[in-house]
Amino acid sequence: MKFLDEAKIFLKSGDGGGGSVSFRREKYVEFGGPDGGNGGRGGDIVFQAMDGLNTLIDFRYQQHFKAGRGHHGMGRDRSGAAGDTITIKVPVGTQILAEDKEALLADLTEVGQTMTLLRGGDGGFGNAHFKSSTNQAPRRADPGWPGEERWVWLRLKLIADAGLVGLPNAGKSTFLSAVSRARPKVADYPFTTLHPNLGVIRNDEADFVLADIPGLIAGAHQGAGLGDRFLGHVERCGVLLHLVDGTQEDPVGAWRTVRQELEAYGGALAEKPEVLALNKTDALDEETIRTRQKALAEASGEEVHPISGISGRGVKQMLRLLQQHIRAYRAAEAEADAARQQALEELTAQRDDD
Ligand code: GDP
Ligand code: MG
Repeated sequence: MKFLDEAKIFLKSGDGGGGSVSFRREKYVEFGGPDGGNGGRGGDIVFQAMDGLNTLIDFRYQQHFKAGRGHHGMGRDRSGAAGDTITIKVPVGTQILAEDKEALLADLTEVGQTMTLLRGGDGGFGNAHFKSSTNQAPRRADPGWPGEERWVWLRLKLIADAGLVGLPNAGKSTFLSAVSRARPKVADYPFTTLHPNLGVIRNDEADFVLADIPGLIAGAHQGAGLGDRFLGHVERCGVLLHLVDGTQEDPVGAWRTVRQELEAYGGALAEKPEVLALNKTDALDEETIRTRQKALAEASGEEVHPISGISGRGVKQMLRLLQQHIRAYRAAEAEADAARQQALEELTAQRDDD
């Protein structure tokens, strides 16, 4: 089992600009001397790790990145301007591998971390550079050095922002594939559900990774090392979407069973905020929906959202709601981090005073 997002991209840093051949021309000065400036450096290819990105999906749309070329030098000792550097923003945790997918070129693990992968070519010298005591009027200027180019792989271990829970047959897989297939803007995205248990959601409503948590729990028993990865998914989840099958007689009992399982599992799973949905409402009449919704709301003390993974009822609103929870969770996390940082600084300052 792999929960990896990968993308292959082409990079090229900018060529350096050429040096210039030029001679000063002034009135009444017979031999003006060389004044051709140097060419500008080509732009670099830089990677930067960003907070708030969680997939490499953007690299399905843009695969070629070329930095600007340096400008040519000019007369009157003017150097050419440097070419524009390109900064490629990637999620924290992205690894950059060579084309063979073996050699690790960079591992971007911290927010804000930058890495220059390809340097732009140097500019060529203008003829002013070649002036010497023996050659007062050189006609030589060098062309710029070429930039570098190569294909690389980006690789990211996907971690879920939201978890999907519910009894078997509650409609989790159906919901997951329905929401991660909804991609109105780009129809040819080659994969949607990266793994049967994991979906990337990217549309007007939302932008996050949703994981079928029971599916992961079942998978966790299959292979070594998966346990850690599973906990990683759980830890980063900002919210759980709990699907209850509305077509069965006892939705309250179904909800309780899953809550008990969550408590029993540990790993702080049960403490995550829960959004509760009565699913499969397409197969129910409005009165049954109301009755079951009410019973579930009374038992749980939570708002119950009627949805259907098949007809799409309530799905957009649900994605927006989950996105709000994820945003709030991330903001609280960032605040806690900042508070910890400040406490640490105060402690250090106090120690320095003593
Ligand atoms: P999971 O076990 O929770 O992953 O549930 P599945 O997504 O595999 O769905 C179980 C069964 O319920 C399948 O036969 C689905 O076709 C059906 N189902 C799932 N979602 C809906 C829904 O929104 N409406 C209806 N009527 N059936 C659904
Ligand atoms: Mg399933």
